[in-house]
Amino acid sequence: MPILMIRFRCKWFQSNILLHCFYCLVFLAMIDSLGGPVRVNNFLAALNLKPISNKNLKTMERRAGNIVEHVADMSTREAAKDAFHQEMKEVAEAESKRAADRMEGLIEDLGVCPLPDVSPKLKLMLQPDNQVDDDWTDVDEDNDETDNVRLSSALKRRRYQVRKHKKKHPMLSRAQKTPSSRVCLASKFPCHSRTGMSCAVDTAWHKRGFDSLTSHTFFMSKAQYGKKVVKAVVSHRTCGVCKWWKRNRPSEAVRNHRCVHDHTGSARLMESVSGERGVCELHKDGTPVEVIEGDGDNTMIARLKSKSNISLKKKFDRNHIVKNIGKKLYALQADKSTKLSKLVILHIQKCVKYILAKNQGDPKGLEENLKALVPHQFADHTMCQPRWCGYKRDRSVKYSHRSLPYKGPLKDDHLRSQLEKLFEPVVMKAPQLADLGSSQQCEHANREVTMRAPKSLRYGNSESLDFRVKATAAFINEGRHYISKLFQFSTVIIQGTRC
Ligand SMILES: [Zn+2]
Ligand SMILES: [Zn+2]
Repeated sequence: MPILMIRFRCKWFQSNILLHCFYCLVFLAMIDSLGGPVRVNNFLAALNLKPISNKNLKTMERRAGNIVEHVADMSTREAAKDAFHQEMKEVAEAESKRAADRMEGLIEDLGVCPLPDVSPKLKLMLQPDNQVDDDWTDVDEDNDETDNVRLSSALKRRRYQVRKHKKKHPMLSRAQKTPSSRVCLASKFPCHSRTGMSCAVDTAWHKRGFDSLTSHTFFMSKAQYGKKVVKAVVSHRTCGVCKWWKRNRPSEAVRNHRCVHDHTGSARLMESVSGERGVCELHKDGTPVEVIEGDGDNTMIARLKSKSNISLKKKFDRNHIVKNIGKKLYALQADKSTKLSKLVILHIQKCVKYILAKNQGDPKGLEENLKALVPHQFADHTMCQPRWCGYKRDRSVKYSHRSLPYKGPLKDDHLRSQLEKLFEPVVMKAPQLADLGSSQQCEHANREVTMRAPKSLRYGNSESLDFRVKATAAFINEGRHYISKLFQFSTVIIQGTRC
């Protein structure tokens, strides 16, 4: 849809005024903030303007939505490329640094070093102490030539040539000597340990429970690369047009339309299916994903492995871990046989948060702390460490559990066995929990979607929801400037006749 700009001849100022067509802006605002046809007509009524029929409004929304989608796709593709290249560059630099640190016996002139598994004899030979003097002549003293000796003579010859070359080009030799030039060169090497970037992934449904008809999935870059949307996928379990024709014209073929129905199966399955779709599309665009940071859903990784032969690594989201433990604790509270107050649940969740935060990159420490967490609440400090247990730090002072009820330890043996049973799988997962990711940026994106498509209103019958989700992606990536990008994309100026 061309966004119209109208040139008016103003009677009052006797000059031309260039204005955006008000109605074009209303159709954009319809997607960005106003809402569906009823809300737009309410808005127009408040401005004392004539209402527009629902059919026309939907037609115009579709035209405006296509531009929004186009701009959002461009923006997400750009963000994906940026995030991918930045991450690959950082990984390659870290690899080069590690390799440079491991280099022993570096021959400065040549910029090479012996391989780590080379024989000690050759290493000794290549050490700077054994290097030849400047008045070296190409004569082999040792007549019983071995391979090593032959190699050393070749190196000597090469050094001699380099020295000669340096005398001819003094500037070049100075540049070659500086270590910084070598570091710059090293950063240009591609990385070997990784093939794809890491993304935070989260799926949200538009209805609580697992019978929602629509969902959307955001793939977002990490915090250090801008927390931008690199892919947005919307899934629908129904299509309004297809449904209408089936109900009212069962014998006729469905009219030509953009059918949004792209998922058959349960709403729970949508998460893995749309995740798979997003990962495959990113692979096709040349920005593959290797590490997924998100909640505990593993079906997507299994599906990608079996269907598309793509292997992904998984990093859990810290907040989801704590939330899942909280859910289990509340389920235990609902069980009448155990006495567990809300105060204790909140305290245990807080402790888990501390343990996860303090032990990142230390799986052994994390496992020890998780094992000691439940016994500590029951005044059993055998597994505790003085780092965080006040009782172990100073035994002369009476230790009180400040956050527990009556400031004393828990006493119920049945509760202890239940809690230990609950924490068993968490302790088993300790190596994975020691390297956590974050998908908080996706939670922010989900909230932004609810501003454009509130859960109380249904937009999922048509592509209306797609436009709103894509508008959110463009807004997160570009800010409010995405509106002006829409204008740049398609603007037509027509001549107005009246002021
Ligand atoms: Zn359809
Ligand atoms: Zn303790």
